[in-house]
Order: sequence, then C-alpha cells, then structure tokens
Amino acid sequence: MSEGRLIVVSNRIPTEEAPSGGLVVALHEALQARGGVWIGNSGARVSAEEAERGLTRIASQPYERYSFDLTEQEHQGFYLGYANATLWPLFHHRTDLLEVDSEDARIYQEVNRRVARLVAGVVRPGDVIWIHDYHFLPLAKELRDLGLGNRIGFFLHIPFPNSSDLPALSERKLLPSWLAAFDLVGLQTRRDVSNALDFLRANDAELLLEGRIKMGDRRFEVASFPIGIDVEGFMKAAETHADAGEHLRLSPGERLVLGVDRLDYSKGLPQRFAAFGEYLSQRPDPQVRATLLQIAPPSREDVEAYKEIRQELESITGRVNGEMGELDWTPIRYIRRNIPRETLAGLYRRGDVCLVTPLADGMNLVAKEFVAAQDPADPGVLILSHFAGAAEQLEAALMVNPYDPSDTAKAIEVALAMSLAERQDRHGALMKAIRETDIGWWTDSYLKALQKPLENGGK
Ligand code: UDP
Repeated sequence: MSEGRLIVVSNRIPTEEAPSGGLVVALHEALQARGGVWIGNSGARVSAEEAERGLTRIASQPYERYSFDLTEQEHQGFYLGYANATLWPLFHHRTDLLEVDSEDARIYQEVNRRVARLVAGVVRPGDVIWIHDYHFLPLAKELRDLGLGNRIGFFLHIPFPNSSDLPALSERKLLPSWLAAFDLVGLQTRRDVSNALDFLRANDAELLLEGRIKMGDRRFEVASFPIGIDVEGFMKAAETHADAGEHLRLSPGERLVLGVDRLDYSKGLPQRFAAFGEYLSQRPDPQVRATLLQIAPPSREDVEAYKEIRQELESITGRVNGEMGELDWTPIRYIRRNIPRETLAGLYRRGDVCLVTPLADGMNLVAKEFVAAQDPADPGVLILSHFAGAAEQLEAALMVNPYDPSDTAKAIEVALAMSLAERQDRHGALMKAIRETDIGWWTDSYLKALQKPLENGGK
C-alpha cells in the first residue's frame, strides 16, 4: 500500500526557499521525503472578500505550500485574542492574565471552521494530516464534521494546563470532543500527558492501556514526544561562528552569563534579573565580573500583558545597572532584537553559563541549543528551571526554582565556580539526552505512531 501524502497545518508557514529553525526544517524534510502539502497563515491582513478567496499557492516545489489570510477582525479575535490572551496564559498557568471574551472565542472557532473547509479542499483519501499547536485545537473536529476519515494528528507545543486551571476556560466543555477528533494527541512531556489524562478522565473518557482513550464512538491516543533540535547542525554552526562572542568585547577574565528568550511573561525574566542582581551583590569575590547578556526579541506586542512585561524588565535592568555598574562595566546587557540563530550558536559557545528559567514552558529549545553549542573540552553550565519541559530530559543541568531569586543566585555562583571535570561530566550526560530525542527522532516517532493501524474504522 502506498503512503498517502503528509499534510501539515500550522499557524505560520515558512515562505523562504530554504527555511531555518529546528521545527520548520524538520517538517520541511519530512514533507520533502514523502511529498505533501503545508498549509498556514500568511501573516497578511486582508478584507473579508479577499479572505474568502481561499488558499494561495506560495510554492509547489519540493512540496506544495499554501497560505490563507486573516481579516483584521480575525487577527484580533483568533490570534491576539483567543489564542494569545486566553489559551496561552491559561496553558502557562497564568489565569491571572486570562482575558475572557466570548466574541474572541466565537471568532476562534469560526476561523477553525473556515480553515477546515480550506484543508478539506486539498486532502485526498489516504493522506495523513498533522496539525500543530493551540491555534487549531478544534480543527480536527471541524474536519470530521465535514466527513473526513483520514488519520489526523495534533501536536501541542506548549504545556497542557492543570485540571485546577481549566475551569477558567469557558469552552472547557468543548475541549474533550476537540481532542477526541484527533487520532493522536502529542504532548511535550510526561507531566503534560498526566494533566491531559486527568482532564479527560474527569470528562467521561474511558482510559484504556498506554494512553489510549475511548470517548463515545471515538478512540484516540495521548502520548509524549519531547521535541528536539538538529544537534549535529547546531554543533557545526557553533564551531563556524565561534568568533561571535568577540563582538561583545568582554574584558579579560570577564564571565558571560547568557539568556535567550522571546520577551514573554512565561519566561521568568524579572525573577532572573533579580537573581542576577542578588548574585552580584553577594558574590564572594567582588573582583569577579560576570555580565548577563539577555537577548529578548519582542513578540505579540499588541497583547496588553506583553507591554507590561517589557516595561517591568526595562525598570529592573535600569535598577541593577544603576546600583551595580562601574564606569567600565554594565552588568546587564539587554538586547531587545532578534539575533540570527547562527550568531546565537557562537554566543552560546562563548557563554560560561546559560540561564533558562521559565515559570512554565512547553519544552524550551534554547536549553538544548546551548548544550549542543558547547566545546566539550571546556563546556559552559546550563541552569534550568524545574518548570521547563526540557527538565524531564536534562536532569544533568543545575536545576532551580525560578520563582526564588536566591536559589537561582546560588546556582549562578555554583556554576561559575564549577570544576572542569564536573562541567564535562554534566555536559556529556546532557549531550546524550539531546541526541536521544533529536528533531529527526521527533518527526519519525510521531509520524510512525500516527500511522499505526486504524482503530476508528475509517472514522
Ligand atoms: N531565537 C532566535 N533568535 C533570537 C531569540 C531566539 O533565533 O533572538 C530562537 C532560539 O534559537 C530558539 C527559538 O528562537 O530556537 C526559541 O524557542 P524556545 O523553545 O526556546 O522558546 P519559544 O519562543 O518557542 O517559547
């Protein structure tokens, strides 16, 4: 039996000839290998009439790529509203930041219905559909309502919410049937799987063995597939760009502590800056100079909570630099701009320490990239939050509670004083972990699981 095509649906779609970025590259390769179609949002805002025109073909080689456009109202309600001001905070355990707006919820479902019609127009029997992330939770349900019996998989790149937070979602009663319409719900971690199973059990699903679930006439599966990076590719990039750190003009002996995050309240940046300030004020040897280089490109700036985090961070940076800085030394260097990944690879390699201290994070690829970029002969130290999905795999990192600046401050001190032998031991263990579940493993193992024999009799 010949394999059907792979149909990928994700919010954003790569428009360039040779896309970069781990996930995009991995999906690109999977599509190239077996042929298929990638459908995503163009990012353009258009009139309602133009949006109704449907899909635009943006490439046909080496596989087909189609984009759809959103109207301004859909961008507000679907993307900024429901996806990023309701689902994102809820799924990151920030119910305090939740914006509940029934109009946004309606638009979110309406966009999913429209995208389902567009996807259904492309799909052929035997094709396998792989839908990505929280923008498209209801998409499989909409596709089933249109009569599609294809295998449909979902991967949630962000955490699955705690059962205690879910009552804050007005559409929680719809969520079980949204999930049950997929054949495979892929999550990042075992903790996410356990949260999802708790939620489904409480909503009349019957849990069978090994993550298999029965709900009404549907059977589906929930399992974890921790996403990885292109380890070899990143190692090479770090070697090629090893001189990136020279641009920083650090003084001799100056230690480099790195942070690389989208500017997002889930990343624990104010707590991190406070921890770095605490480390500096308590460091045993005041002669030691450690600089925190924080790269934090802005995202979703039209959502209120993102404006607030930006202001908060600027105020802490000013305070720490004002108190601790010297004429020839700025303790926190904060860059609010996107840095190309190749340059990042070189900067990671120069870093003595990388602070990955999110309050909640689906996986956190920066943690894995930092490990891959190190020189094994003289590796830097990863400080990692218990609340990053990556913590389940990267146990050899220095683990911290990101809510407690003293804990992180202490870890910075330990990391900067760590012996070469211990750094090498930890780095060896971390490399083993990131190699075991690299990005190639992730796409292969997910797609293999999605294509297991049908249990829904074609439903
Ligand atoms: N990144 C980048 N340039 C920057 C900042 C980040 O290319 O200036 C990349 C980084 O290398 C990583 C990704 O953005 O691959 C961030 O992924 P992660 O899982 O850490 O966090 P997310 O942004 O998905 O929440």
